[in-house]
Amino acid sequence: MALMAAMNIPQSIEFVEVGPRDGLQNEAVLVSTDNKLSLIERAIAAGARRIEVTSFVNPKRVPQMADAEQVCAALPDRIDVSYIGLVMNIRGAERALATGRINQLGAVAVATDTFAMANQGQSSDESVEAAKAIITLARSEGRNAQCTIAASFGCPFEGEVPDERVIAMAIAIAEADPVEIALADTIGVANPAHVARLVARVREAISPLAVRVHFHNTRNTGLANVWAAVGAGASVVDASVGGLGGCPFAPGAAGNVPSEDVVYMLERAGIGTGMDLERLIETSKWLSGVIGRKLPGMVAQSPPFPKAA
Ligand code: ZN
Repeated sequence: MALMAAMNIPQSIEFVEVGPRDGLQNEAVLVSTDNKLSLIERAIAAGARRIEVTSFVNPKRVPQMADAEQVCAALPDRIDVSYIGLVMNIRGAERALATGRINQLGAVAVATDTFAMANQGQSSDESVEAAKAIITLARSEGRNAQCTIAASFGCPFEGEVPDERVIAMAIAIAEADPVEIALADTIGVANPAHVARLVARVREAISPLAVRVHFHNTRNTGLANVWAAVGAGASVVDASVGGLGGCPFAPGAAGNVPSEDVVYMLERAGIGTGMDLERLIETSKWLSGVIGRKLPGMVAQSPPFPKAA
């Protein structure tokens, strides 16, 4: 009970919709540029003010993101919305900046050597240096950047990742002046105790820089991990409408935590997200039709909870 009492429940968090990039990237069905733009417009209408819209990576490796430039060219003109483009290297960063529409670059550093090598052909230390170079480039061009530490809570090849490794990476990346640093459970192996501990330790190490969290729901611990992270001081949360990303052709691949489920949980707990739950649910249902299958999010499949009379 003492632990619960010590949990810090914030008044609000900042919500980041990552469906158009992280969600769609892992879907086998190729989604049209028009439908991607419609998803972005619907996310904005539902209240999202930070949206990961695309990634600037090799289209041969990630065919779903081959239309990055076309998506950017047609993004709604909204000065109140920050459009995030994911980039893995300077070439990608230059492409993103050249669109003139990306407000924020998202860099990725990977916590283990084996995963960093598989994911981007470099060591973990090299991925930290690459992320710092991307952040520095964005700053020099008058834009900003953030960095995600992939496999913060576990690696598909090396297993457990020491807290000290993630903390050291966060401190090194913070030197480049990102807007925040995210801890990502890329393969969905985290548990709430681990999340609470690591979020608190990284937060202490990089304060006043914000900690963002990014969870996949591979083993159904996603929402519990969001709750633990928010209680430990993570102030920004990634989620994907519908829990998009569970590819039926890739065993073990599972989606992000569903936006509407995260928003339902936090808002019911008195934590503001700035999001409109009903519009998110509508978007989730629309997206299910676009993708052609039932999406994993549960709130969109449930009857509405009656509002107070
Ligand atoms: Zn992800």
